Amino acid sequence: MPPESSTEEVANFFGSIGRIKLDKRTGLPRIWMYKDKMTGSNKGECTVTYDDVEAAKSAIDWFSGKDFRGNTIKVSMAERRAAGDWKCPNDDCGNVNFAWRHECNRCQTGRDGGPMRHDYGGRDRDRPY
Ligand SMILES: [Zn+2]
Repeated sequence: MPPESSTEEVANFFGSIGRIKLDKRTGLPRIWMYKDKMTGSNKGECTVTYDDVEAAKSAIDWFSGKDFRGNTIKVSMAERRAAGDWKCPNDDCGNVNFAWRHECNRCQTGRDGGPMRHDYGGRDRDRPY
């Protein structure tokens, strides 16, 4: 997408197919715009979090190759769907868990596959990485 795209534009565009999850704290759509660390400007990539997985799946089919402000967009299921959510390290499982979980709610593998980490709840908890 064009780097100058605003969150509102992205919300309107991607919100046309399903409800975008709202951030409980800010009340704004859960859209993460990736910024270039050096320049601070948008990289033209973002993560959109839908209320349900089905909407996210149809968004991939629907929006892939579509035109957004003159640019062909690429859509894929992000490994990190939402800020803080984590994907089970067990490849046979692959379940995406809520940020507050310490272990997979499907197979009980510990977060990161190793000793449980308690690295959430900090100031930077909304950062996807
Ligand atoms: Zn699992």
